[in-house]
Amino acid sequence: MFERVCLVHYHELGLKGHNRAVFERRLVDNLKAALSSYPVSDVTRISGHLLVMVDGPDPVAYGAMGAAFRRQAEMVASVAEVIRQMPGVARVSSGWRTERDLDSMGQVAELALRDCEPCVSFKVIAHRSNTDFEVDSREMNVRIGAHLHETFPEKAVQMVDPEASVHVDVVQGSAYVYARSERGVGGLPVGSAGKVVCLLSGGIDSPVAAWRLIRRGAVAVGVHFSGRPQTSSSSEEVVSQLVEALAPCAGIGRVYVVAFGDYQRAVAAQCDPDLRVLLYRRLMFAVAERIARIEGAMALVTGESLGQVASQTLENILAVDEVAELPIFRPLIGDDKQEIIEEAKRLRTFAISTQDHADCCTLFMPRHPETHVALPRLIEAWEALPHEDWVERIVRDVEYHTYTCPAYRAPKRFRAPQRIGQDGDLADSLGA
Ligand code: ATP
Ligand code: MG
Repeated sequence: MFERVCLVHYHELGLKGHNRAVFERRLVDNLKAALSSYPVSDVTRISGHLLVMVDGPDPVAYGAMGAAFRRQAEMVASVAEVIRQMPGVARVSSGWRTERDLDSMGQVAELALRDCEPCVSFKVIAHRSNTDFEVDSREMNVRIGAHLHETFPEKAVQMVDPEASVHVDVVQGSAYVYARSERGVGGLPVGSAGKVVCLLSGGIDSPVAAWRLIRRGAVAVGVHFSGRPQTSSSSEEVVSQLVEALAPCAGIGRVYVVAFGDYQRAVAAQCDPDLRVLLYRRLMFAVAERIARIEGAMALVTGESLGQVASQTLENILAVDEVAELPIFRPLIGDDKQEIIEEAKRLRTFAISTQDHADCCTLFMPRHPETHVALPRLIEAWEALPHEDWVERIVRDVEYHTYTCPAYRAPKRFRAPQRIGQDGDLADSLGA
């Protein structure tokens, strides 16, 4: 019996004492969802690891180097790639499960070493978590190492820094053998750290900021402000592509979309031009906070980074923050744009964010936006707006889509999985 498996290793989960089982179950559910379209028969917990069983032919029956074997190796590599991107995964190893006898372990160790080709040096790292197996780990190292050396006489056995390390783990009832192992993204399983509302603009920064919180175990709910009907809805399409790109981490439960253009127009018509952007942003935060309350989310997240644009000075951040009571996280506040771009490329969101799309922030943009606003002046302008009424209406008319995220629970008020086409003709009633 040789079965293909991926072994999922985690670090921080192990530190969580009695919560550990809960965290492991979260990770199992998230992996099952992310792997639902792959030939994976089961995801289970075994001592200290998660085990992902990948369907496929027996390598002995098919010949270890045959086409079916190679196709399966490719499938296992793509399964491992999905696992690697899952928050909470420290490392993923691709290998085999076999019987607890030295011959089988030796045969499968050959396959594992072949899996690392080309390599010129190796060592065996055997481990036995159960002393009811008669051969101890030192003896296993020696015997499996000798077998591999016979099969691959051109490869050197090297204890320090070998190119390939063939792990043989003997546990209750089976043995796991693997040599390919890749680092995961780390962090904590989505759903183990509550819910946050992320302001998703369609730009480069906000998906990276959302990812940072998702990686720490938060379920993200996006809120996107579209310039519609004053602009096209192209930014909404971009945001939905961004969410798809982040889908492998199963971390975004839902995205709310606000048709914001008429409200911006109303702000522009009623307020000093230099305050427009700050007032748009206060309104965005007020709406995001209201949605957070409905969703039971406990923080807001933005992609701001200090001094990057006019609205991101300390004075302006302070003046906009004042509108919300919930904590506002800005995980990119100290990052340089270049670092953010590199991360966006790794997340495969960069190419999506840089497509041409309507950006509501530039709508009715004044020539000289205020860069260091005095808080009392902004509050005075804010209080002159019917902002409570606007937030109420925006939330009443909000549209949304729900995505695959096993850790997400929809709020009572918006139970249905999606809500679209809430467009009313607002322009007149907003006094714009
Ligand atoms: P990004 O690249 O994320 O768009 P940015 O550098 O363009 O950021 P701003 O436009 O000032 O900076 O936006 C700062 C943050 O405010 C964004 O990262 C996002 O979290 C939020 N934000 C801005 N515009 C929108 C929008 N239209 N919808 C939702 N959130 C927004
Ligand atoms: Mg932007």
